[in-house]
Amino acid sequence: MPNIKNIPADCPSPHRPIKYLYWPTDPLPLKIVTISKDKLSDFIDRSVPPKGKACDRAYFGLDLVMILSIADSSASFYNATEEKYALKEVFETIDENSCPLSFNFHMHTVHSDGQLEPEILLKQAIDIGLKGMAITDHHTIGGYAIVRRLLDSWEGNLQESQSQGKLYTFYPQAHQRNSQNNSQNNVKIPRLWTGVEITAEIIGIKVHILGYAFDPEATSMQPYLQGKEPVGSDYQAIRVISAIQEAAGLAVLAHPERYRRSAEKLIPEAAHLGIDGVETYYAYQNPKPWSPSPKQTKTVRKLAETYGLLQTCGTDTHGSNLLLRR
Ligand SMILES: [Zn+2]
Ligand SMILES: [Zn+2]
Repeated sequence: MPNIKNIPADCPSPHRPIKYLYWPTDPLPLKIVTISKDKLSDFIDRSVPPKGKACDRAYFGLDLVMILSIADSSASFYNATEEKYALKEVFETIDENSCPLSFNFHMHTVHSDGQLEPEILLKQAIDIGLKGMAITDHHTIGGYAIVRRLLDSWEGNLQESQSQGKLYTFYPQAHQRNSQNNSQNNVKIPRLWTGVEITAEIIGIKVHILGYAFDPEATSMQPYLQGKEPVGSDYQAIRVISAIQEAAGLAVLAHPERYRRSAEKLIPEAAHLGIDGVETYYAYQNPKPWSPSPKQTKTVRKLAETYGLLQTCGTDTHGSNLLLRR
């Protein structure tokens, strides 16, 4: 057990540590549960974030910890949960070299304000050799759904593809099973997660929140998948973040240095509201070739570490080339 005696006086609200907890052997059925302190040691290794802060550990000092999750044990939720943990593992490996050649978690199609047809986007992603990606159109998963259907049909036709002399394999399995086989006929398909970019308000200003790995059928997400900005209370960042998390997804603050308030102001507030991550690696000045802006990266990375947030990357492609922003 970690030292649970000294809870630093400046620890933020107790909401943050809770979401790192999950049932160690069986995540289902999901419901609100309480755990006695003597059972907490079962959780510690898997529940403290990798760069756990004193505040995270301190919270385990309570006699009872409540785990908040969703009262839904449907099969689709189970898959969504798997998707989330797989993506979280990938996010934990992301650095300044991950995008745009290995991963890309911020791309737009013609289904919102981008220029790429989903099919063309997928072709480019495969040609680049992406291992994992998310299409993040504004307030719609129309582009995602087309690419998802394409991938599913390919996976179903794997035998056929093999017989035509090409072997299509899917990350991350491809990475493990076929690492020896780099022949031209071995086409690797990136792993695709659900994604969306949602406009929201935080400390009185408009920001963009990226949602990932959420269950697209979840009720909580429906107000945000209608092709237009949410209104009323749905527009508040806290509502957006909790809607994504209720759908078993991860919420990430997009391009934190592109707003009317600084990242220093916004990230602590977003962390307080329970955000999972920040888009640390982003090209603010549209450089060619794409590369994350050094100054902003440094600032955002430091804040992400301070608040124990996941860090992501993405090109925010709106044009016709996934290797560029515009
Ligand atoms: Zn944006
Ligand atoms: Zn965007």
